[in-house]
Amino acid sequence: MVECPVCGADIEVGELELHQIIECPVCGAELEVVGLDPIVLEEIPEVEEDWGE
Ligand SMILES: [Zn+2]
Repeated sequence: MVECPVCGADIEVGELELHQIIECPVCGAELEVVGLDPIVLEEIPEVEEDWGE
């Protein structure tokens, strides 16, 4: 169980790998595993795609 850094919800996770991307089921944020001991999640900012050229 880890805490979502965005909404604070407890997320149930299985085995995590470093730099794995998981999605918070509560707020939908994409989170990257940046630490395993202890587990640290970091929000991945949504990148706005720029189609303008
Ligand atoms: Zn969340």
